[in-house]
Amino acid sequence: MSFSEAEVERYARHLVLREVGGPGQQKLKSARVLMVGAGGLGAPAALYLAAAGIGTIGLVDPDAVSLSNLQRQVLYATADVGRPKVEAAVERLAALNPHTVVETHPVWLDSANAGDIVGRYDLVLDGTDDFATRFAVSDACLAHGKPLVSGALGRWTGQVGVFHGRPCYRCLVPETPPDAETCALVGVVGALAGVIGSMMALEAIKLVVGAGEPLSGKLLIYDALSAESRTVRIGADPQCPSCGA
Ligand code: ZN
Repeated sequence: MSFSEAEVERYARHLVLREVGGPGQQKLKSARVLMVGAGGLGAPAALYLAAAGIGTIGLVDPDAVSLSNLQRQVLYATADVGRPKVEAAVERLAALNPHTVVETHPVWLDSANAGDIVGRYDLVLDGTDDFATRFAVSDACLAHGKPLVSGALGRWTGQVGVFHGRPCYRCLVPETPPDAETCALVGVVGALAGVIGSMMALEAIKLVVGAGEPLSGKLLIYDALSAESRTVRIGADPQCPSCGA
């Protein structure tokens, strides 16, 4: 695989980076990355993945764009309200980077279909806010040996972590928490979705090119109100419903 003149110019700021360069950019071009959820986290993540030159992006989302999405879901425009998200996203991402192929999956991921979809990609990002989906994605990643970049948001706080084998996401969240909240209920600051979604894309890019230290087995928690972050290590739970003994 080689790059056209236009690609060399497009990716110039990557090509001069020691940690990316030509070989890293080839890895990005060969990569197949699945983004589960094209919402607050998925929108900025997908934009940065396409801009970075990820060769194939899979987008999973069954929803249509609503007016209340536009406060944070920067992939969509006002004229997209009412359209299926994946349909609007394909156009926007193609306009951003015609070298990226976008595959759409306008479905809810659940334990019945997650394995089939996850199995077709090298790396998975989960930005959904539904625990049943998150568990299905985590279990499928564990079964297929795929790294999972997981992000979550609420109010003024966000978190991002990377799971590859043990510990898995369910070592952190074994069951749906009794106090589970959705952004629709408690609210979220739009720009925070941009911060966490961009961090998810960044972790994915690091994993693909092999740069630095990914957040593997760790959770970075960002508190936007204090502008402070902390990173905690996640222990493998022997009682984990997915990866426990
Ligand atoms: Zn586990």
